Amino acid sequence: MSQANDIVIIGAGPAGLTAGYELARHQRAPLVIEKSRLVGGIARTEQYRGFLFDIGGHRFHTDIEEIQAIWRELLGPDLLEVPRVSHIFFQGRLIKYPLQVGDTLRSIGLGASLAAILSYLKVALFRPAELDNLEQWLTARFGSRIYRTFFKEYSEKVWGLPCSQIQADWANQRIQGLSLARTIINALGGKKTATTLIDQFLYPRLGSGMLWEEMARRMVNHGAELELGWEVSGLELDHGRVARLRLSNGHETRSVAAGQVISSMPLPHLIQRLEPAPAPEILKAAGRLRFRGFLLVGLVLSSDIGTEHPWQWLYVHEPNLRVGRVQNYRNWSPHMTPDPDMTALGMEYFCDQGDEFWSLADDELVSLATAELDRLWPGSGELVTDGVVYRQSHAYPVYHLGYQEVVTRLRDYLGGISNLATIGRNGLHRYNNQDHSMVTGLEAARRILAATG
Ligand SMILES: Cc1cc2nc3c(=O)[nH]c(=O)nc-3n(C[C@H](O)[C@H](O)[C@H](O)COP(=O)(O)OP(=O)(O)OC[C@H]3O[C@@H](n4cnc5c(N)ncnc54)[C@H](O)[C@@H]3O)c2cc1C
Repeated sequence: MSQANDIVIIGAGPAGLTAGYELARHQRAPLVIEKSRLVGGIARTEQYRGFLFDIGGHRFHTDIEEIQAIWRELLGPDLLEVPRVSHIFFQGRLIKYPLQVGDTLRSIGLGASLAAILSYLKVALFRPAELDNLEQWLTARFGSRIYRTFFKEYSEKVWGLPCSQIQADWANQRIQGLSLARTIINALGGKKTATTLIDQFLYPRLGSGMLWEEMARRMVNHGAELELGWEVSGLELDHGRVARLRLSNGHETRSVAAGQVISSMPLPHLIQRLEPAPAPEILKAAGRLRFRGFLLVGLVLSSDIGTEHPWQWLYVHEPNLRVGRVQNYRNWSPHMTPDPDMTALGMEYFCDQGDEFWSLADDELVSLATAELDRLWPGSGELVTDGVVYRQSHAYPVYHLGYQEVVTRLRDYLGGISNLATIGRNGLHRYNNQDHSMVTGLEAARRILAATG
């Protein structure tokens, strides 16, 4: 076995690259296999006619000092500090997000405000015992009125499931510390505790992918091999170890030997590609895990609309519009668009890979997104001069009821393969941001370094 195949990493997203960079910095040059032509995974930045498009904007924010230090070390002054501006589009109005009491109550009107306050007092006085699903969790923290007005529609667009069928783990992990009481305390100048409430974030000058391209470059400079455009299509097992990986680039197939394997590919794919195949009940369990896909329609506008629309992200809480969120790239970094007199918007749609929406032709999607933009701001559709579509499968690991038992079962099974570690958002089926994905990559690399000296 050649030294380059001593450690093989599957995936050059944030988790896989961080593992690779850490190993390479310690003279253990790994082989990193990435099926796409770009590094960065879901956090990559695509380029279209000089316009830069993140696949969903990526705020860089973390409480983990080591991760923040890596970001700063990699990008230095190219890591911009950006004041966060997010709004909710609701019944033709823009409401600040995170919710601010005065602004929110003013926007929804006196009658709806009173109803919101009463429904909050009801749950504050009679707190439900069960908080198992997202609907119960959000209602307990905001009251049913605010839940239905500001959370239900958007959450159901994202997940493609009723909030009553989404496990509360997601909210516990992602919006812990957020409640109406906390919102009121914040409005009065209290400390912001929830991760969703940050008011400033870091952002690479040329999009989130800039950081991952720099990490890949340094990893390779330290001796790692990076193979783009190759997909791991099979993992051959021998005596409880992964012995070889089969790679395919759509035209040819080849295989590489592996001493240690670190995988960030989706957990079910990993199970389904093991050879010999696991027992039918394990394959059946793997088939039960669900993922939500994501589709970005990038629209190029002939004028700069930044002054009227200062937000990076706009959450669209309109049941009759299919778009879930809109991002204005110049408000992330002015360097995302080549011409200061033009605007690039990202219209974000949540869907399932292969469903009717996902399968629409690109020009139909651009027309639909343009028409929806025009319904958000009448007249803006006429400013659209160009459009591009990016589809992202496995964007969100879904926390449907019962998913956790499936994940535990699959991870127990994989625990029997001695030289295989799973990392990252889809490798662990955990709703990680970039920072926590990086931590899983660091930990896997350090376990190998510690075990092999
Ligand atoms: C819309 C959206 C917005 C987001 N916003 C933020 C944000 O603001 N801040 C933030 O920190 N995070 C954000 N995230 C989350 C962030 O994108 C993820 O946490 C991060 O990309 C996960 O990194 P990863 O390496 O674990 O997985 P991925 O990014 O999924 O990378 C996995 C890599 O493995 C490759 N791969 C898969 N299978 C194979 C195979 N068989 N062979 C070879 N290669 C394979 C894939 O092509 C991919 O490159 C957002 C995510 C979405 C969907």
